[in-house]
Amino acid sequence: MSATYGARVAIAESGRFGGTCVNVGCIPKKLLSYAAHFREDFEVAAAYGWNAGAPSFDWPKDREIHRLNGVYERALTGAGVEIIRGRALVKGANEVEVNGRTHTARHILVATGAWPRLPQIPGSELAITSNEAFHLQNLPSRALVVGGGYIAVEFASIFNGVGVPTTLAYRGSRLLRGFDAEIGERLGEEMARKGVDVRLNMDPVRLVKLGAQIEVLFRDDSVQNYGLVMFATGRRPVTRDLGLEAAGVKLAADGAVVVDKYSRSTVDSIYAIGDVTNRINLTPVATAEAMWLARTLFRNQPTPVDHANVPTAVFANPNLASVGLSEEAARKAHGAIDVYKTSFRALKLTLTGTSERTFMKLIVERASQRVVGAHMIGPDAGEVIQGVAIAVKLGATKADFDATLGIHPTVAEEFVTMREKAH
Ligand SMILES: Cc1cc2nc3c(=O)[nH]c(=O)nc-3n(C[C@H](O)[C@H](O)[C@H](O)COP(=O)(O)OP(=O)(O)OC[C@H]3O[C@@H](n4cnc5c(N)ncnc54)[C@H](O)[C@@H]3O)c2cc1C
Repeated sequence: MSATYGARVAIAESGRFGGTCVNVGCIPKKLLSYAAHFREDFEVAAAYGWNAGAPSFDWPKDREIHRLNGVYERALTGAGVEIIRGRALVKGANEVEVNGRTHTARHILVATGAWPRLPQIPGSELAITSNEAFHLQNLPSRALVVGGGYIAVEFASIFNGVGVPTTLAYRGSRLLRGFDAEIGERLGEEMARKGVDVRLNMDPVRLVKLGAQIEVLFRDDSVQNYGLVMFATGRRPVTRDLGLEAAGVKLAADGAVVVDKYSRSTVDSIYAIGDVTNRINLTPVATAEAMWLARTLFRNQPTPVDHANVPTAVFANPNLASVGLSEEAARKAHGAIDVYKTSFRALKLTLTGTSERTFMKLIVERASQRVVGAHMIGPDAGEVIQGVAIAVKLGATKADFDATLGIHPTVAEEFVTMREKAH
């Protein structure tokens, strides 16, 4: 964007273009999530009269990703950006060193992302993180996923979906901290019903190699063997040995670059966006921060970041998605709120034996009647919430939702037909 606005730009990349999202994040994760969902699709198809024989599964290898690396690189070259391959080191307010050569620039943008963090327990080096999960050669006999955030629940769903007996262990009492509490609780229940061994208030304290297996000792002294242990226990901003502190850039305790609302660090010429700032760690947020900054610096339109009402999805099985405030956060922010909810079996599943329930919830600020939060667990929740997010961003009221006609029969129509207040 900066180059298209006329700036002379160079980019230093030590890994593969597209960063985490394209190479070891959103894209390959969603492909695996699709793969894992098919098992249930075969069951649904059978309930509708299809007989396609017994399905079997072969763990897919990365093909699509190489294509995307090329797409990003061509987009950069097409915009006139100079590509420098190598690890960049900040040498001062206007200097960056790559491969022993010093480059000077009026502005420096740090967008080095984040990296998985392993817990400090004996044997943790035997475990993998999401980085390696995309390159497994074979499916493990049994998998343990440790963590309670979106990456943990997504991978537990993927392993379980492709037929690997899977345990999800989380030290907290509810999955998906930061999401609406009911959403986290219900997701745990749905995942357990689909066969994931969900263990809350539980984490491993020691890993030991036992032949091809890993023996895991849990906090409650129970012991279990797994073919694979994956930690999804948080990510740390990539700022170590980057020269930032020596250049005068302030870092937070977690290593994140401290920035103001224009993404400017404590050094006037150095900016930071994306996961390295640890604000809202999502691809569309990182991309938007980049657009806002390019506009600020090269279009003479100072544009602060806008982190309100960022929609987000979790591609667990079942999917879930949210926009706006959780019930708890809304109560804190607004005091009096109205809550509407509904829970039902989706029409598509009524012919099947599955007990999966779709759940939807609207949070309404009582005084203004504005919808300040919308949450869903159910098929294609991300696709549904993306549309609802426009209404929430525009400040739609509950009456606006009610005045919108449903599309029948769909799952999504329930968002405009919720009449009874839950409380
Ligand atoms: C498993 C997983 C699943 C995810 N799923 C989703 C999802 O479904 N939806 C979503 O919105 N977000 C998702 N995310 C989050 C998303 O990937 C990140 O928010 C996004 O990639 C952040 O972009 P970024 O540019 O800040 O950092 P990154 O994408 O991490 O890019 C940083 C780049 O900087 C390079 N680099 C680092 N240090 C240097 C250096 N010193 N010199 C040169 N280059 C350097 C790295 O090689 C990398 O290419 C997921 C993340 C993970 C890990």
